[in-house]
Amino acid sequence: MSEIKFQDFHDYGNWINNEDKKIDTIEKIKVVSPYFDKKIATIPNSDAEQLDVAVKAASKAFQTWSQTNIRDRAQVMSKFKANIENDIEDLAKIIALDNGKTIEDAIGSIKRGVEVIDFAISMPNVLKGESSEVSPGINCVMTHEPIGVVAGITPFNFPVMVPLWMIPLAITAGNTFILKPSEQTPLAAVKLAEYLKSSGLPKGVFNVVHGSKNIVEAICDHTQIKAVAFVGSSKVAEIVYSRSTQRKKRAICLGGAKNHMIVVPDADVNSTAKGLLASSMGSAGQRCMAASVAVGVEGIDHIVDRLIDEAKNFKLGKDMGTIISKSSLERITNYIDQAEKMGAKILLDGRKATIPSNYSSGYWIGPTIIDHVDPNWACATEEIFGPVLSIIRVKTIEKAIEIENNSPYGNAAAVFTTSGEVAKIVSDNASSGMIGINIGVPVPRDPFSFGGWNESKYGHGDITGASGVSFWTNLKKTTSRWPESSQEWKKYF
Ligand code: NAD
Repeated sequence: MSEIKFQDFHDYGNWINNEDKKIDTIEKIKVVSPYFDKKIATIPNSDAEQLDVAVKAASKAFQTWSQTNIRDRAQVMSKFKANIENDIEDLAKIIALDNGKTIEDAIGSIKRGVEVIDFAISMPNVLKGESSEVSPGINCVMTHEPIGVVAGITPFNFPVMVPLWMIPLAITAGNTFILKPSEQTPLAAVKLAEYLKSSGLPKGVFNVVHGSKNIVEAICDHTQIKAVAFVGSSKVAEIVYSRSTQRKKRAICLGGAKNHMIVVPDADVNSTAKGLLASSMGSAGQRCMAASVAVGVEGIDHIVDRLIDEAKNFKLGKDMGTIISKSSLERITNYIDQAEKMGAKILLDGRKATIPSNYSSGYWIGPTIIDHVDPNWACATEEIFGPVLSIIRVKTIEKAIEIENNSPYGNAAAVFTTSGEVAKIVSDNASSGMIGINIGVPVPRDPFSFGGWNESKYGHGDITGASGVSFWTNLKKTTSRWPESSQEWKKYF
């Protein structure tokens, strides 16, 4: 078990033209470590003026970067990958410190992000274009062209993985990029900028502007930013999608989730209990793929008993880190209090957990399992974003699917069963973009693309894989015919 050590970083500026540009004239945002409840850095609360500085740098860089051969662009990504991998322990420590993850969880999340860099390295093969003689003597060539200056806005919960869903594909496609990381977990974004610089990325191709609501609105409004990818809560995803598309930008905005796991009595007891636990409690439940509702179809007490046994062995500080903030901790506790008042049975109560012995502060809560939850209660319908699993009991698979379908979200759904027929019925009928069969966190690894349905995503397509490449490029179709008038060449035959 790796202990997180307190570290006070310097004050950050925005990263523009491969340099940290200090800004003394604007308000600063304090970055607080959830392990220590103490400031670890400050970042600027940038506004439209600071964004414009970044956009000017990115626009200038676009002129040469877009003309750089894709093989050379992919080469930078190969070095970027090596730089991250060589420094993975230190990068993980930074993520742990500002996000609250354990080091092991942070390392796992970095590795998932690096898979997207692998995909970007292969882009010279993916973006080779298509060509056909569409009519006698007439040829059409279709190529993927970069769009221009593009931006990414990211959430607190995966400070490296989520930016890496965007940066490698957008940059290798020839765009120049502006990242607005979460103001709660901005430190790793600066490390990514440093790795890109030492990988040989020319100045202005990748820039970081820090801040909160103001800078997000400025990104949506800026006329020279051509595309925006957003990942965060559904409320903000909808705002960013509407505002960006109104300003004629291309946008993909991934939102929140409330994922369901349908559990059938014939499911394998051990792997189902482990799957339910890992999905609901991993990353302290602070991930969009966390399944926080188990819908048990009759007679699943034997699985619930095993789940409780497993959950009791889950160690705070080892298997699970902290919650991101004091206010998030209060929100999570309120959901549990409310369910208890409504008459739910609290099988495991994380509110009673004590701070791990090697820490003296921090925003901690243990795994919580609530049974006999009504499908209409807040803990069953709203995104809690904490280590809380609600169990709903139903009599039929049909009812379980109906509960899943009634959720306004649609990121992921899972079924635990040993019956292929049940698995097919659930996967055919679930209203979600990512389905797990005996898998509680069904992240489609590259080259398959990541993205949900319904209010878990605004915009078309997915954020990674071939769909991501398509988002960050324009298709150009060049049709050519050569005149036969000049016969000059024939004399050389
Ligand atoms: P958030 O929506 O609060 O913040 C996301 C980004 O939006 C941040 O950069 C933040 O500065 C900015 N922002 C916040 N409020 C804003 C406002 N009013 N106007 C403009 N910008 C604003 O999300 P979060 O709390 O950082 O992250 C957790 C959420 O992200 C959860 O809902 C989770 O499900 C979701 N998430 C979704 C996915 C996915 O793939 N669908 C992945 C990771 C996280």
